[in-house]
Amino acid sequence: MNNLKLVGPDNKKLSTVCTKIAMEDMAKAVKFAKRMLSFLGNRIDGVGLSANQVGRTDRTFVISIMGLKEMFINPIVTELSKKKTKLKEGCLSYPGKVKAIKRPENLIITYFNGKKMIKTPANGIIARIILHEMDHLEGTCKVK
Ligand SMILES: [Zn+2]
Repeated sequence: MNNLKLVGPDNKKLSTVCTKIAMEDMAKAVKFAKRMLSFLGNRIDGVGLSANQVGRTDRTFVISIMGLKEMFINPIVTELSKKKTKLKEGCLSYPGKVKAIKRPENLIITYFNGKKMIKTPANGIIARIILHEMDHLEGTCKVK
């Protein structure tokens, strides 16, 4: 069953800072992240999705691109490269809008993947998607 729906571009959730998931709420949050992953996996027009784009303010985003499907719960970016690149980005919440955005090329991220804590470097397009979704979790979006 998957009845998730994107909230409209003017929905307040999109400008809400998402809340860290407490340990006792983790099982529920993982379930929701799985629904987000299946929602995103069924679309061809997006590669990342944050909880507040589908109406919840869990500090969670998911990525689905080129066979990689991953949930990021309570993500923290700890290092950003000085080297930046500018690339065009779109956003599921703002259909039709595209903006060239300058972002660091590499980062290190720590998060819960539904099973365990992960600390990993990310580069290129994956780093870009992560930073796009981290913006959402802070209640902003540079594509808007
Ligand atoms: Zn977006």
